[in-house]
Amino acid sequence: MADIIKLLPDHVANQIAAGEVVQRPASVVKELMENAIDAGASTIKLVVKEGGKTLIQVIDDGLGMSVTDARLSFERHATSKIQKAEDLFQLSTKGFRGEALASIAAIAHVEMQTRTEEDEVATHIKIEGSKIIAQEVAVAPKGTSMMVKNLFFNIPARRNFLKSNHVELRHIMDEFHRVALAHSSISFHFYNNGSELFNLPSSNSRQRIVNIFGAKTNEKLVPVKEDTQVVKISGYISKPEFAKKSRGEQFFFVNNRFIKSPYLHHAILGAFDGLIKKENHPGYFLYLTVDPGSIDINIHPTKTEIKFDDEHTLYAILRSTVKHSLGQFNVMPSLDFEQDQNLETPYNYKNRSAELPKVIVDAGFNPFKEDSLAGSAQKSGFQKPSTKDWESLYVGMESNIGKNAGFSSVSFESDTITGSIFENRKETIDTGATTFQLRRKYIVTTIKSGMVVIDQSRAHQRVLYEKFLKNITIKEAVSQQLLFPLSLTFSKSDCAIIEEIQDSLTTVGFIFDSIDVEKVKVTGVPFSVPESEVGIILDQLISDYQQDFVGDGFSQTDILAKTLAKSLSVKTGEVLDSDSQLGLVNDLFACKESGVSPFNKPIFVTISEDEIDKKFI
Ligand code: ADP
Ligand code: MG
Repeated sequence: MADIIKLLPDHVANQIAAGEVVQRPASVVKELMENAIDAGASTIKLVVKEGGKTLIQVIDDGLGMSVTDARLSFERHATSKIQKAEDLFQLSTKGFRGEALASIAAIAHVEMQTRTEEDEVATHIKIEGSKIIAQEVAVAPKGTSMMVKNLFFNIPARRNFLKSNHVELRHIMDEFHRVALAHSSISFHFYNNGSELFNLPSSNSRQRIVNIFGAKTNEKLVPVKEDTQVVKISGYISKPEFAKKSRGEQFFFVNNRFIKSPYLHHAILGAFDGLIKKENHPGYFLYLTVDPGSIDINIHPTKTEIKFDDEHTLYAILRSTVKHSLGQFNVMPSLDFEQDQNLETPYNYKNRSAELPKVIVDAGFNPFKEDSLAGSAQKSGFQKPSTKDWESLYVGMESNIGKNAGFSSVSFESDTITGSIFENRKETIDTGATTFQLRRKYIVTTIKSGMVVIDQSRAHQRVLYEKFLKNITIKEAVSQQLLFPLSLTFSKSDCAIIEEIQDSLTTVGFIFDSIDVEKVKVTGVPFSVPESEVGIILDQLISDYQQDFVGDGFSQTDILAKTLAKSLSVKTGEVLDSDSQLGLVNDLFACKESGVSPFNKPIFVTISEDEIDKKFI
């Protein structure tokens, strides 16, 4: 057989490499900004158009390149940053693989203009799909300007895969934040579609954080500092009371490189344990400095994951350092490491005062009076939790045996309720006095063949979800006008999200007077949303939206309806009076899909009379 193996031509190899290095416009932004930093720039300008799809330009005032270097820089494995394999373990630069420019040039139209201090004229090079189109002499200041146009012009599949301009812009902003946070002494300018989005002067790291995330961030920050032989830690954590529902502001930098590390993240969570609610995320900006020889950065093409020699020690130091800062700045009640964990007050009880136990006696209670067990007990607010389950079970059974006719009075008819289990089984709910609340979590009620146990929170989520979906679709949301407009502060990127989903928000009843760079003025909110919760709900919406836009998830309206349903629903632990219980049960079974919550969890279980009977054999 003839030989069949051939070396791939360079432009093909470059395109393959590009698949790893360049996933989206944000990856180009990262690579170009890192090159500018490696070139020792003190000012970096980033210009993007249409989410980076048509233009990404990075202009720096760094070292620049000679004519030969300018040409070589686009070759694969061409780098000035390392020379031998050992250098890989003493890295002080962002780049070292020498493949970014080659990859980018393989899949875009690239124009570079660069000049060194010594050279009098600059070099201008134009490349399209790895082919050099032009090279000429130009006049330009010292430094480098890289212009990347029409990303993925020659790979339509990748181009079509890109998300909306808004979404791509947000990825770019994330990348920009990471680089800018890691280098606060460098000044950055960011222009999007012709207008300035960020202007970050050279500063210290605290100011940089505040300049990016808004003035209100300042009061949230608690400094962290620790010097050990293994690692130097500096930076900030945000006070527990500012923990957010979104994972947004969590940054680890190792030797000034942004990295992702679920393991170290866990150490921080450990330090915050008991201080924040389970569903909230602590904010942190932590800068770790370690011996470059003790880490391996070359384990991933995008260099955001690294391997530490001694991860366990790092974990322990990080955890206790953060814990210490929380204590030192008086944000933690006690710092006694010996203290028995069991004695610590869980978050939920922190601000509650002790209550005397109350004994309520139901004066009207008569065990011999028919139907009195559940009925009168509820009317008088009488609670007898320990026996409630079987009492009501008994009531249900009794009515089932004793007065079958009672069930025909139920308000659900199969033709009006679609999709309810009761339609299929030709069953109906007894809407008499036979609902009751079990452990402030479930609502128990009877059906012809036995009983249903309903998760109150999930049931309410379903009801609200369908209501909001309907409002959005037929655009008939009821809005409640606020007496005084609410002025809420968000970070720039959060405001960008609100602007992006503004139309959908309006369809559920939010009315915005204005959305500025960092401020949002709300004049109307959906009916049933308490004014005090508006900020929290918008925060939640932003976070859900952020998490979902990455996945191929759901439509905007769906996310919106889900979030609102989740935020506004009755929670486990809330006491419901009998009218509310009944109302909820009725609403639930009028839903299109009463069986599962918007988050795909079962809402109720049924227990048939047969099953109960069997237990008594
Ligand atoms: P790497 O950064 O891994 O070395 P790149 O493909 O990103 O690989 O860049 C190749 C080389 O081009 C770099 O090593 C550097 O010498 C040069 N270079 C790239 N961008 C710049 C810049 N903005 N200023 C000066 N030199 C640059
Ligand atoms: Mg590079």
